[in-house]
Amino acid sequence: MKKTVAIIVAGGRGTRAGPGGPKQWRGLAGRRVVDWTLDRFATHPGIDGIVLVIHAEDAAEAGGLPSGVTVTTGGATRAQSVRAGLDAAAQMGAARVLIHDAARATVPVDVIDGVCSTLAAGAKAAAPGLSVTDALWTVADGRATGTRDRDGLMRAQTPQGFDLPAIMKAHAAYSGAPADDVAVALAAGLEVVVTPGHDQNIKITQPEDFARAEAILRAQGAVEAQMDIRLGNGYDVHRFKAGDSVTLCGVAVPHSRALEGHSDADVGMHAVTDAIYGALAEGDIGRHFPPSDPKWKGAASDIFLRHACDLARARGFALSNIDCTLVCERPKIGPHAGAMQAAMAQIMGLEPDRVSIKATTSERLGFTGREEGIAAIATATLVKA
Ligand code: MG
Repeated sequence: MKKTVAIIVAGGRGTRAGPGGPKQWRGLAGRRVVDWTLDRFATHPGIDGIVLVIHAEDAAEAGGLPSGVTVTTGGATRAQSVRAGLDAAAQMGAARVLIHDAARATVPVDVIDGVCSTLAAGAKAAAPGLSVTDALWTVADGRATGTRDRDGLMRAQTPQGFDLPAIMKAHAAYSGAPADDVAVALAAGLEVVVTPGHDQNIKITQPEDFARAEAILRAQGAVEAQMDIRLGNGYDVHRFKAGDSVTLCGVAVPHSRALEGHSDADVGMHAVTDAIYGALAEGDIGRHFPPSDPKWKGAASDIFLRHACDLARARGFALSNIDCTLVCERPKIGPHAGAMQAAMAQIMGLEPDRVSIKATTSERLGFTGREEGIAAIATATLVKA
């Protein structure tokens, strides 16, 4: 039985998809793009193993992945990342590989089937293509200069499947920046069988592609009516001490005082983290990161929040939304709320419209009213993915 390994290439920086970090780690229908992509291959009967190739800067993002995914670090270019993935697949004893872009999160099962069965029938290389239906123009300076015959042209998709020794040899011999792995195979003289592509197999590239991808997931029945919904709440307080800024929801806010605490004392992020633990019936930050352990002294609180999010994902839950209220007289939160929302969304891998950060005073009553400290309350909703 020849082993087939899927190599998911997730090392790109994705600057065309707008702000919010690399697109493969961003939120899509309550999960991360990469989680949807991995699912397609993890549940496919023709795939015996998965290698996820990430950028070295993204190591902190790679938590909460399904067990059985081998994570490896890629290089500066896509071709270098593919080579790292090929090496990892070879170590796993693969005979064939399917190389796929992490940003193609909606690849239909039929497209994967077509590549797998063509390789199983003896092809050394197989890749999905889609015929071009629009007319093609040549253009210069914003003006059409002519037309091109679309006969004989196809749009290239992934996964692109190969006999592993053949594609490793082809990559070793290739220099330059190939458009994809079919280009590498062709340069080595391999015959590439074209299998059926699909118009649902989009590559998330532009900001508007996220909405298209979500609509496709719904059309595919991948996002169903969700019945298993968990709510959690969190509450936290930190007292003021001498200092010149406070860290709230991941943003340093200038202030005449600082907050005292074992970690960075980010009271808002702690409340949100505890809300997620609460929804999972997993206690609170103190259970997972005991204050008695000096390892967490001065720690950035995103470690805690990432851990809670990873725990949720590992249990099969998507984070649907969080809502956090900071309670203080000062500093004023309003001018920083947008930055806090963006920072929290990025750490949690959520769309910003699922992350609410707001504030209230307590009308000068109580300890927050006397400006002895800051309190925060938070709610989190988790939905079984
Ligand atoms: Mg705390």
